Amino acid sequence: MDTERDFLFLNDTHTFNCFEEGEYLVIQTYPSGKKLRVEHRSFDYRAAKNYCDLESMAHDYTSFDLRIVKDSKLWTVDFDGNPQSLSEQQDWKIAQKYFQLHKDKNVECEIVVCQCSYPYFSALEIGEYSSQLRLETCLVEDNSREIDQCPNCNCALIMGERTCSRGAYGQDARLRVNSLESL
Ligand SMILES: [Zn+2]
Repeated sequence: MDTERDFLFLNDTHTFNCFEEGEYLVIQTYPSGKKLRVEHRSFDYRAAKNYCDLESMAHDYTSFDLRIVKDSKLWTVDFDGNPQSLSEQQDWKIAQKYFQLHKDKNVECEIVVCQCSYPYFSALEIGEYSSQLRLETCLVEDNSREIDQCPNCNCALIMGERTCSRGAYGQDARLRVNSLESL
């Protein structure tokens, strides 16, 4: 069984692999998962751009895009390879406690990923006569805060895909906390 120590080790590994300023990353933008999927890293803009173009041509159902690291955040890139605007996709760090939640058969907990790549926590408490849904932030630097819209792209989350054109509640993006615990 995984212990807290094992998870701390995973976090350390992640820190160790953190990206450097000015580094170009080819990332998968669709479908988005709980973790940032980096296909290629380079300090050479042309090489990264070429890689990104080839990767996009080689896949029909997966999208890739180029980002640059600036101030420890991911930015979109202009035609000259300079940072343009803050990227919707970031290397989100989920707080440890969300991987170690108690198992309660009356509460369905999961980490959900918005179409914009932002992960948040969903807890559905199933009562005999009614159910209550609570959504909250689950990042290391911002967690336990109740939300009803995505803090990253402002998409409404409570009503799910009926009001949100981005389909924040896409089934594919759902990841169960239970399965994450076994990673
Ligand atoms: Zn979002």
